[in-house]
Amino acid sequence: MIVMKFGGTSVADATAMKTVLSIVRKYSAEPLIVVLSACSGITNKILKAMEISAAGDKNKALDIYREIEIHHLNLINELIDKKKYKEEALKPVKKLLDDLKNFIEAANLLGELTDRTSDSAVANGELLSTNIFEAACRCYGIESVFLDIRNIICTDSAFGSASVDFDETSIAAKETISPLFGNNKPIITQGFIASDSFGRTTTLGRGGSDYSAAIIGWAVDAGEIQIWTDVNGVMSGDPRILKNACTLPEMSFTAIRWASYFGAKVLHPDTIKPALDNNIPVRVLNTFEMENPGTTILNNTGMKRATLQSLVLQKKCMLRKFTFPDNIGSKKTESRFQSLIDALESKVYYQCRAENLEIYLTDVPNHDEELFLGIDFEAAVENIPVSAIFLIGEMLTGMGSGELFSKLGTVFEKYPPEAIFSGMSNEFIVTAFRPDDAESALKALHEIIVSSF
Ligand code: ADP
Ligand code: ASP
Ligand code: MG
Repeated sequence: MIVMKFGGTSVADATAMKTVLSIVRKYSAEPLIVVLSACSGITNKILKAMEISAAGDKNKALDIYREIEIHHLNLINELIDKKKYKEEALKPVKKLLDDLKNFIEAANLLGELTDRTSDSAVANGELLSTNIFEAACRCYGIESVFLDIRNIICTDSAFGSASVDFDETSIAAKETISPLFGNNKPIITQGFIASDSFGRTTTLGRGGSDYSAAIIGWAVDAGEIQIWTDVNGVMSGDPRILKNACTLPEMSFTAIRWASYFGAKVLHPDTIKPALDNNIPVRVLNTFEMENPGTTILNNTGMKRATLQSLVLQKKCMLRKFTFPDNIGSKKTESRFQSLIDALESKVYYQCRAENLEIYLTDVPNHDEELFLGIDFEAAVENIPVSAIFLIGEMLTGMGSGELFSKLGTVFEKYPPEAIFSGMSNEFIVTAFRPDDAESALKALHEIIVSSF
């Protein structure tokens, strides 16, 4: 059984959806669960319309609504050419569009937007794309089953970024999904959305459709999870910045998880966990280059030597150095320090301490600096703006990494880093460069990967 998830660009328009239909047809000898995101850009549009409406500008919000409406009506027109199926698609779609409009108007009436309302509104993106796709399946002779995933994936009530109740989800999947396999029709369902124990719509966080695929794959013990996107797989770096980025044939679960944590957009980090628990291989594939083998993400790639695989660049970071007057271990300093860090609300990419020195590599929310000014704190604070480059791979440190380090050394000589943190994990090394050096350093580091291909 295969769970295949198609991201926003894969279902962006009629041409893309037709390609997805051909992929579904190609794999249809096997039981399939097809998980779809909202059409590209629709989630952002819904969220924006809700925010603008709640802030008072109903007309502007309704303009955005009309763009969403036109997009989906055009999609039906271009994708489904038989009248009967067009009408079948229009029925649920009109109802969903009406619901969405009501949410937008209600936000304006109330003058506020809660995460709960936002989730209910944004869920329409995935419900629209899946309803249209299911009607298209019928039109193109693929008999399929529509499944509202909110009846399966159960979460807590943390609207906007809910946590999954795996026990409840597993029970619901066994009761509902398993019997559907018997009729050998692809099951069409939504990514990103779920429901809490009161049946209220929740979402799994932005980009959460990958996670949905992994949860479903875990719950039905799939043989494979396929993440279909618009690039050939996990690449040696962001192809938008590195034009010669190459596709990695294999990557370990842990390495991809770190890459995601440090900000590589290709996969939602939590995607990995449920799949890992059941040892289910995850493949990242290109919808628009269907024959490309993509990247297989495995529990263990069996790599024996230091291999640099992928780079993640975070342009705007801050290296924060705290030098304490006394040893950092003193209780008083420690608790004050912790409260400072908690107040930062930054994403801390890396943290290390030695004697009276504590270093943090963080992202840079605007309000941070003010916070530092007001604090009564017994430490000299040095803030160095940097760009972080995260080096992801396998066996990166320890025995056998000498050759790699000598290559890295050549780059570091040319572009001296402000900091290098290694040794904490075999799967990543953290480097921080002066922002002006970052892109050149990134390209030079990337050449190490390219030359090993
Ligand atoms: P989807 O809509 O299919 O979920 P996303 O936009 O979430 O797709 O993720 C795919 C995009 O991630 C690619 O188009 C690519 O530009 C970007 N990306 C960033 N870093 C990487 C990387 N290391 N490997 C592959 N893609 C990457
Ligand atoms: N549509 C959702 C988003 O844009 C979920 C996803 O695409 O993964 O965040
Ligand atoms: Mg995505």
